[in-house]
Amino acid sequence: MFDNQTIGVTCPKCRNQIETTIGWLKTSDKVTCTGCSSDFVIDKEKLFTGIKKAEEASAKLRRSIGDIGEDR
Ligand SMILES: [Zn+2]
Repeated sequence: MFDNQTIGVTCPKCRNQIETTIGWLKTSDKVTCTGCSSDFVIDKEKLFTGIKKAEEASAKLRRSIGDIGEDR
């Protein structure tokens, strides 16, 4: 569900923020820095733990938004 979500990855070499999508990272673990043109590998385990947390948080958010609705 987050495949089209753009995330910023920080280049470990020049600290440049590279925008990539979660869908891309699911199929490839390499990102090319737009600042210094170096390839680096994403720590997917860390990344997907973070995404999972975000998904859980947004599920929680949706639930709490759902609770706001009242029948009239
Ligand atoms: Zn870089």
